[in-house]
Amino acid sequence: MQKERLYGKTLNELIAVTRKIGLPGFSAKQIADWLYKKKTDSVEDMTNLSKRARDILSEGYEIGLYPPENVSVSSDGTKKYLYKVLRNKYIETAYIPDNEQATVCVSSQSGCKMGCLFCMTGKQGFQGNLSSNEILNQIRSLPEFSNLTNIVYMGMGEPLDNIQEVLKSLDILTSTWAYGWSPTRITVSTVGLIKGMRDFLEKSRCHLAVSLHSPFDDERRNLMPVQRTNTVKEVLDIIRNFDFNSQRRVSFEYILFKGLNDTPRHINELARILRGIKCRINIISYNPIPGSPFKRPDPGAVVNFKEALNAKGILTTIRASRGGDIQAACGLLSTSQEKSV
Ligand code: SF4
Repeated sequence: MQKERLYGKTLNELIAVTRKIGLPGFSAKQIADWLYKKKTDSVEDMTNLSKRARDILSEGYEIGLYPPENVSVSSDGTKKYLYKVLRNKYIETAYIPDNEQATVCVSSQSGCKMGCLFCMTGKQGFQGNLSSNEILNQIRSLPEFSNLTNIVYMGMGEPLDNIQEVLKSLDILTSTWAYGWSPTRITVSTVGLIKGMRDFLEKSRCHLAVSLHSPFDDERRNLMPVQRTNTVKEVLDIIRNFDFNSQRRVSFEYILFKGLNDTPRHINELARILRGIKCRINIISYNPIPGSPFKRPDPGAVVNFKEALNAKGILTTIRASRGGDIQAACGLLSTSQEKSV
């Protein structure tokens, strides 16, 4: 019989487990301690549970941690890990060290339904949602886990298309009964799914990053098919009407394509639609993928675009591309070549 995984369960779910197998209610908190604070990898190690309780627990449950199966290392220090999920599918996770900071970029789905034209994951199609266990295992089983300062949900998949498991993983990362991370060190990205954004903003305190890529609906629709259902205005209305506190941040990701979305017309329209929203734009130079008609912009054009937006009063930064030589940079994650066994 396949045992159920304990790692990735919220405190409420652990309480339900203890009830189901007849353990006292307080043992759920003890189990959470072992899973998330003491970092045990065996039920047998949970020594403040009685031997009988450990035996009952092990009958149907296991911890459920598993190491990555492969790693590629970039010349810039970025590492790309390969994890097996969903019974023989694969996902990739990027570890990005940067001076005092170390960020992990986690995947939330195997493949993706959104079909963005500039993205290798989008080309791969959709294989399935990751469980909270599979999302968090990418962080906990990362060899550099203890170095991490930031977590971004910007790997494979659209996090808000898997909102329940993503919210569970955020609960475990930020609750004091588990990891107790500050939500200000965690950012979740989205193409702008309306319902998911509402749920995320209400039920989590983590930062939000919205992929914008163009202020014009028709252009955005050509880049990101999801735009067929959600317009820029609908996405911005949700943000405008939400009461962001001083700690919580919203940012817009803007992949810059040569000759496509880098003109003064785009700068003026971005300034117009973002007026009154306290935000930041992160510019990312497009990383070319095979068969794509898009072109990477010249470095000078990227700087000019950034400065023009800053001059319009929109805080704009350029995100350095990392891990390009190992296909770990933005838009390049894909496991379509991995063998499913
Ligand atoms: S950019 Fe993100 S949402 Fe779009 S296809 Fe790629 S993984 Fe999915």
